[in-house]
Amino acid sequence: MDSIEEGMKLSKLSISPDGTTKLLLEIVSDGLEVETVIIPWEERKRSTLCVSSQVGCRQGCTFCATGRMGIVRSLTTSEILAQMYWANKICRLLPQQQGYSTSSSDNGTGKMLYPIDNCVFMGMGEPADNADSVVEAAKIMVDVNMFSLAPRRVTISTIAPNPEVFSTLSKAPVVLAWSVHSSRDKIRRQLVPTTKHTMVELRNGLMEALKGRSKRLRNTMLEIALLDGINDSPEDAEHLAEFCRPFFEGPDAVKGIKLTVNLIPWNDISASSGPASTYRQPKMERVVEYQKILVENGILCFVRTTRGDEENAACGMLSTAKRKIKAVN
Ligand code: SF4
Repeated sequence: MDSIEEGMKLSKLSISPDGTTKLLLEIVSDGLEVETVIIPWEERKRSTLCVSSQVGCRQGCTFCATGRMGIVRSLTTSEILAQMYWANKICRLLPQQQGYSTSSSDNGTGKMLYPIDNCVFMGMGEPADNADSVVEAAKIMVDVNMFSLAPRRVTISTIAPNPEVFSTLSKAPVVLAWSVHSSRDKIRRQLVPTTKHTMVELRNGLMEALKGRSKRLRNTMLEIALLDGINDSPEDAEHLAEFCRPFFEGPDAVKGIKLTVNLIPWNDISASSGPASTYRQPKMERVVEYQKILVENGILCFVRTTRGDEENAACGMLSTAKRKIKAVN
């Protein structure tokens, strides 16, 4: 593995009013850029890091800014870990006691950056399309002699191009998450056009992978980006609740599973063409109703707060508009 520090340099740092901090990193060897996002949590006094696994993405999800870029290339293990190295450095260097108020790029936030204790592979790229590097990077993140994160605090999130990827990604001793977006096949294919398997086939793949894991890693998350009038109806919620039932009930149930559904109200990516130009943010009443239906069906369900949308650092909004820009010192 190349030296982590030397592989990338910081091109740009932008900070949202809510403290979410986006790092644009340039890969020294070829000048390509990746984004990584630090999300501070005031109540826990800790931060989450959202890392990228590729420059661009070939999956082309119709609601996602990265998907509109197409794939440029996959990142190496070192390039994935360099994002954590840089993020840790920024957390150390930015003033923590007084917030950012001394920084010229703080937008007057006065927010603090706390140490990173949590990492999610939810930035640019599909982890399953770069599985070897992602698995290796995740193993190093939880290695007590390296980054030493708790295994339950590292999450690899995949849209699951096929049912087998869950087992492949399961080689990393961290949490698996599935970007479902809709349990209905037709809507799923509209949102994730590269979907080649039915949702039942993909669900069974996840169930099999979970059964092969130790009990402490049988927690999993299903992610749903909610879009107004597309996948946010009460019928969609009922369908998802039914879709989740085999995880808990019946002969194939996963013993000891802890399943959580995360609802992510979609962020407008200001697309001027294509399906995303017609998509709208869901109304909060619909999001709350959707959550209520899942909870009434006994499913743990959270609405994920949109963070960093002012600086294009929110979920599904990462893209490097230019492949190469002049680096700052
Ligand atoms: S949502 Fe994820 S898998 Fe889909 S295009 Fe965006 S980065 Fe790729």
